[in-house]
Amino acid sequence: MSARNILVINCGSSSLKFALINQAHSQPLLSGLAERLDSPEATLHWWRSSHIREHLALPGADHRIALEHLLPMINDACGGRLHGIGHRVVHGGEHFTQSCLIDDAALQAIRATVTLAPLHNPANLLGIETTLNLYPQLPQVAVFDTAFHQSMPEHAFRYALPEQLYREQGVRRYGFHGTSHRYVSQRAAEITGLAVGDSCWLTAHLGNGCSTCAVVDGQSRDTSMGLTPLEGLVMGTRSGDVDPNLHSHLARTLGWSLEDIERLLNHESGLLGLSGLSNDMRSLEQARSQGHRAATLAIEVFCYRLAKSLASLICALPRMDGVIFTGGIGENSPLVRGKTVFYLSLLGLSVDKVANARCVGGVTGEINPPAYPRILVIPTNEEKQIALDTLTLLNS
Ligand code: ADP
Repeated sequence: MSARNILVINCGSSSLKFALINQAHSQPLLSGLAERLDSPEATLHWWRSSHIREHLALPGADHRIALEHLLPMINDACGGRLHGIGHRVVHGGEHFTQSCLIDDAALQAIRATVTLAPLHNPANLLGIETTLNLYPQLPQVAVFDTAFHQSMPEHAFRYALPEQLYREQGVRRYGFHGTSHRYVSQRAAEITGLAVGDSCWLTAHLGNGCSTCAVVDGQSRDTSMGLTPLEGLVMGTRSGDVDPNLHSHLARTLGWSLEDIERLLNHESGLLGLSGLSNDMRSLEQARSQGHRAATLAIEVFCYRLAKSLASLICALPRMDGVIFTGGIGENSPLVRGKTVFYLSLLGLSVDKVANARCVGGVTGEINPPAYPRILVIPTNEEKQIALDTLTLLNS
């Protein structure tokens, strides 16, 4: 059978990212994003394997119009041979333990999880519904951020709250970034010659959103995010863990509403809140090198809290084959990796300065000195994992 083409779609409320992936090519044939949809500034950006960026202004375009503009480009890039579409879906609740072909029952179950992810799942559904209309003959697959973490044991996923809230309202820890944690832990096994089914990793996905995961024999056993992607690590604009009583404290002392508090914790905190400068690690590293006190503190808090999270996840491992850094920060910041590992010295972890500096800009490698526990930098590739899942389901 000749190599097949899969279109991967990741729909946000006002954006649509896409990648056209061919089984036989390491790079997408075409990828890009439509952003600021439903506004006068809506724009479609795309680049072919040549990496030359092109763009087209689409004032007022919605997801459907953006996709309609994409269709001829996709057809052109794959010679009219598209075999399937894979969709990123943020929340699969407890219903989805793995990726699935999209049929009426799956659509209904995804709709039923909207209350758990009111910002994300409606946008994901919009993408699915639009492509089902545009490509009614093509098989389509949903790949969930939460599905990988459904293997967590109950003692890891339950909050210490009355059972009724779990049974009736689904209040529990779900975890996110599962596609990335799964992809990099499988790559780590591949690179080190271990079997996926007999390997134990701590993974740190550090992008704008950040989370850690304990992966045992190819399965998630615990992770830092919870009911929502706010729990856990310090992130670009999200606070991560705070005392739950902070909510009532702010409401009582400042008269803040739930919306005010949600905005604070999700959009005004994290690296941005601590530094008062930026949510972008590159800007903070630059400011730190110029002696900016708050940027320096923001990076320190980020690394310390990350190290604490990794150390706590040791409880979920029977042994440790390595720690993996991924995501924009994990793949590109020797400073963050070095500081985080420093806080984990007691576990026998250490970085080799030269190897640490070399692993940036998409370079995969080990950054520990010889004979020390492995520390790996592995670029994530969620689009590829979604395409692989789609191909697997097309074969089944
Ligand atoms: P998203 O979660 O949106 O996919 P990314 O995985 O692209 O985000 O990660 C974005 C983060 O990666 C930003 O904080 C950015 O500053 C950081 N980053 C990217 N390149 C570098 C770099 N060279 N050094 C430090 N941080 C970097």
